[in-house]
Amino acid sequence: MEQVKAKKFLGQHFLTDESIAERIARSIGADTRCLLEIGPGMGVLTKYLVDSPQYHFKAIEIDRESVAYLHEHYPTLDLIEGDFLRLDLKTIFPEPFAVIGNFPYNISSQILFRVFENRNMIPEVVGMFQKEVAERVAAGPGNKTYGILSVLLSAFYDIEYLFTVHEHVFNPPPKVKSAVIRLRRNGVTQLDCDERLFVQVVKTGFNQRRKTLRNALKPLNMSLDGIPDTLLAKRAEQLSVTDFVTITNTLTNLSTQS
Ligand code: SAH
Repeated sequence: MEQVKAKKFLGQHFLTDESIAERIARSIGADTRCLLEIGPGMGVLTKYLVDSPQYHFKAIEIDRESVAYLHEHYPTLDLIEGDFLRLDLKTIFPEPFAVIGNFPYNISSQILFRVFENRNMIPEVVGMFQKEVAERVAAGPGNKTYGILSVLLSAFYDIEYLFTVHEHVFNPPPKVKSAVIRLRRNGVTQLDCDERLFVQVVKTGFNQRRKTLRNALKPLNMSLDGIPDTLLAKRAEQLSVTDFVTITNTLTNLSTQS
């Protein structure tokens, strides 16, 4: 573990507990074939995946030093040197692929938004995030941590909080606890509404999450007339995906009528 000095700006916290790495690797669904690891670092998780006959496995790592280390220690690894956030996802596998990783925490939300945007290409995600992010993603309505990513992702994924991981099993230890979650694509191919407007409604609603929707949705500059009062009196954090779909459809109807 001494060979590479962790770089904070890349969110590097190397996992030192092999049993946790193995447990993350085992959490991938039995029917997964194509698998991409984000940020393998020094390969603690990669080790359990790279030579598995089950997978067509690739990894993407941004850090040159880690890349050199991986080439040396895992010569069979199909490694892309680059930034996951810039990777053209259509080019890596000929078919949909699962994503796994002990992710760089500084870009957790961006990774999850990318997953959301590419949901039809990514049937499954298993990975470690800061506990707070993991809880936010897995939260349901009424929960304080329920937010934009919870709604957007749960519209298309079944989300499970798998287990919590203590900070002392990382080098260097992060300031916060971590947690492993699993997202599996549900059967929804299309929401029953204008999806772009849905995303806008969810984002706007949570932007001022303490306000009732009647006030929080004002920046949309659309008439809220057809929306049931019972929904408008609530805050975004109290609404289910279905509620947001209902609101989106009402807005759509009004704007197409005018
Ligand atoms: N999976 C390893 C490393 C986790 S630390 C382990 O569990 O020990 C996060 C890793 O993500 C680091 O190796 C870091 O260099 C890499 N990383 C950070 N930003 C990245 C990006 N945008 N694309 C790909 N990898 C990235």
